[in-house]
Amino acid sequence: MALRLLKCEYCSHHLRFGAPRCGKCYQKTPSLNRFWRISTGLGLATLVVVMAFSATIS
Ligand SMILES: [Zn+2]
Repeated sequence: MALRLLKCEYCSHHLRFGAPRCGKCYQKTPSLNRFWRISTGLGLATLVVVMAFSATIS
């Protein structure tokens, strides 16, 4: 499932979530588009750590 929340600032093409470049005009996408993928990865990693940590306590 592809999330297309952001638009290309050059051609208004809907960008694929986390894509470094526009799929239509190949211009660089806003850094926010890449940042979201990084923060999602960090969020998932944090969640796994927290769950593992709470499992050891109980
Ligand atoms: Zn574009």
